[in-house]
Amino acid sequence: MLSLKGIKRVVVLGGGTAGWYTALSLRKLFSANVEIRVVESTEIGIVGVGEGGLLNFQAALHSVDIDFNEFVRETNATFKWGFCYEGWRTGERDDKYYHPFASATGSASKWEEMGHYPLFSAMINNSIPLTSYLKGFDLIVNNASQEEARNALNNQAVDIINSFHFDSYKIAKYLKKIALSRNIIHQDVIVEHVETDDKGHVTALITEEKEKIELDFLVDATGLARKVIGKVVPSEWYSFKDYLLLDRALPFYMPHPLKNPYLVSRAIAMKSGWMWQIPLVDRVGAGYVYSSKHISDDDALQEIKDYLGYEITPQQNVIKFEPGCYRQVWVGNVLTVGLASGFVEPLEATSIGQMIEVVRNFTRVLVASQGVVSDNAIREFNESNFVSWMEILDFLRMHYDCPRRDTEFWQDVAKTPLTENYRAFKECIQVRAPRLLDVESYLLYGRRGMFHVVNWMFVAVGLGLIPPNAVVNDLLAIAPEKKQAVVDFLNSLNR
Ligand SMILES: Cc1cc2nc3c(=O)[nH]c(=O)nc-3n(C[C@H](O)[C@H](O)[C@H](O)COP(=O)(O)OP(=O)(O)OC[C@H]3O[C@@H](n4cnc5c(N)ncnc54)[C@H](O)[C@@H]3O)c2cc1C
Repeated sequence: MLSLKGIKRVVVLGGGTAGWYTALSLRKLFSANVEIRVVESTEIGIVGVGEGGLLNFQAALHSVDIDFNEFVRETNATFKWGFCYEGWRTGERDDKYYHPFASATGSASKWEEMGHYPLFSAMINNSIPLTSYLKGFDLIVNNASQEEARNALNNQAVDIINSFHFDSYKIAKYLKKIALSRNIIHQDVIVEHVETDDKGHVTALITEEKEKIELDFLVDATGLARKVIGKVVPSEWYSFKDYLLLDRALPFYMPHPLKNPYLVSRAIAMKSGWMWQIPLVDRVGAGYVYSSKHISDDDALQEIKDYLGYEITPQQNVIKFEPGCYRQVWVGNVLTVGLASGFVEPLEATSIGQMIEVVRNFTRVLVASQGVVSDNAIREFNESNFVSWMEILDFLRMHYDCPRRDTEFWQDVAKTPLTENYRAFKECIQVRAPRLLDVESYLLYGRRGMFHVVNWMFVAVGLGLIPPNAVVNDLLAIAPEKKQAVVDFLNSLNR
């Protein structure tokens, strides 16, 4: 059992997006007489490469009482309505499919019948792109301005949920400003040692200047430095490297290639990985994420230049990572969040979205337990967090189930095993329509799941993974009096 009743000092070690967001959430959770302190080192710095949020981003801002319009103004965020995957099938520049953030209450998602979505099944059966029904999709394709996008959102003229593209440096700076105004203490020091008691609970941080910062509860938000998890508190590392080959990222900035910031993140397949392009207000945050087994850092830089046709300057050193996560992120009196808890290539931009889920679930457990948390509740919390990582791994693995074979990297991708869950999902969608049931196992102990089956369908259909005939039996089973609705829907589509 862990009792947080009567605790006085909570320390968040790390002042990146994860650290400041967690501090703001904990400020709301704990009473005013509990000190919340963020300890970070500006000398070490934070990660900021041009990031994109997921569907839970706006709700996360709301949960810490941040005004949406102020956030956009202060962080120069741009609207994000999903992803565009380029070159993942043929390798050609005009080879594109989209994974938009389709609203789960949009017209095609509203009608669920015997577990599947007849209107999606009808589009699949007729080989019609799923984007055809989406109100507002033309704004993406036509590179609409931010103003046009804002008006469409305000007028509810889109079937798309909005998230944001942003610069993590600006977000961390903005969250820090809000945190300082809400009685959160900030300390800029390098932590050298971490002290524990005989139960293994962390009791203090020791700085470079030998100052002792005593604490009752610690949040490890130290990014890829992972100062506490796996070193001071035990946790098992679960590597994804057998399924996902990418382990290097080379970030840089580039000018906007289009007139307006694109409303979607671009993921452009390259010879040994892919390039992200995240449109910010005044520039694009970009980078090549690749497999070090297939290309050297120098050749990766050259490939970027060849692709873009102009020189670029890397924004920072190459980032090295092993894809994977820690299985236990709440151990004793330490909660680990953000990059410290795990990281995979930014395909589908899951990192901040996943961190938000961890913090939401932690808050839920503390409120529901009134601060007296059983070992069981902590075990379930960790299990649900691990399941969320499995959801990310399975979903990302599906993206690589693509037909490209033109380089050694893409040939090796084809030889890489499927994850067990994705294999099971794929087997079913050869003979029937995808349904919510297929992703329900990702919901565990208060977790919402990051991706709806509609998200899975957009990628699966984009990659041609569902044969049109697979859904025939689902469509035939629809009651005769409802079949006209399917016909009317197909006739209404903009194709
Ligand atoms: C290539 C790449 C692309 C990404 N793209 C996306 C994306 O599209 N979408 C998305 O959601 N996420 C993305 N991410 C992840 C995203 O950048 C992070 O999740 C987010 O910035 C939060 O990082 P963090 O706060 O966990 O860590 P960081 O920003 O690294 O912060 C770590 C903090 O710990 C402090 N620290 C570390 N060690 C010590 C010490 N000894 N003493 C004191 N302080 C210390 C540092 O000073 C810093 O303040 C991407 C990441 C990478 C690498």
